Amino acid sequence: MSSNVVWHSHPVDQETRAKQKSQRPLVIWFTGLSASGKSTIAGALEQILTRQGYHTYLLDGDNVRHGLCKDLGFGDADRQENIRRVGEVSKLMADSGLIVLAAFISPFRADRRIVREILPEGQFVEVFIDAPLNVCRERDPKGLYAKAERGEIRQFTGIDSPYETPEHAEVRIQAGEVSVAAAVNQLLDYLHQADALHGGYEPVELEA
Ligand code: ADP
Repeated sequence: MSSNVVWHSHPVDQETRAKQKSQRPLVIWFTGLSASGKSTIAGALEQILTRQGYHTYLLDGDNVRHGLCKDLGFGDADRQENIRRVGEVSKLMADSGLIVLAAFISPFRADRRIVREILPEGQFVEVFIDAPLNVCRERDPKGLYAKAERGEIRQFTGIDSPYETPEHAEVRIQAGEVSVAAAVNQLLDYLHQADALHGGYEPVELEA
């Protein structure tokens, strides 16, 4: 970056925008294997939060690879760049006052730590969607594990590319065992305990 580029502080800041939305900006970062349930659980949580009056945006790994990150592949350096970009976008969206839900495999601890560190203190919530590899393989909603096992996709996380399990995630969801509704309630409960839901919240009704 050129040393002639100087940060310009504007009069309307994150606090102003957050106040206007009556909420605490946050990045809720979902990490886990492909098919562990990141998009499903993030989408369900977002639906509940918007219904209850919160302003949100869901950044989804597969979707950003159609646009912002369509020039990137799945080698280690491109994965790192992918997370760097979406981390910066998450930061901008949180700065705009939103509750951001980010669903990315984000397999490397160092990359997730960088996102945590670029955000203001307390605005990054790491959620480990922890479903065992054999469960993800069985679900295989997009047929990607089958392709990876046949060697038709290379550098597939869990098959021939590593996944580094979070060590200090704020929330761990055992997504191979609990229902989507139970996962959403676990998250709502955490957010409430962390004083992040000033507008209050209603738990999701669990199916009998
Ligand atoms: P990811 O975003 O992690 O790749 P997806 O959410 O796209 O995963 O896919 C997870 C699949 O598993 C979906 O087809 C979803 O319906 C299914 N599924 C079954 N049980 C659960 C659960 N308890 N939590 C999340 N997803 C589940």
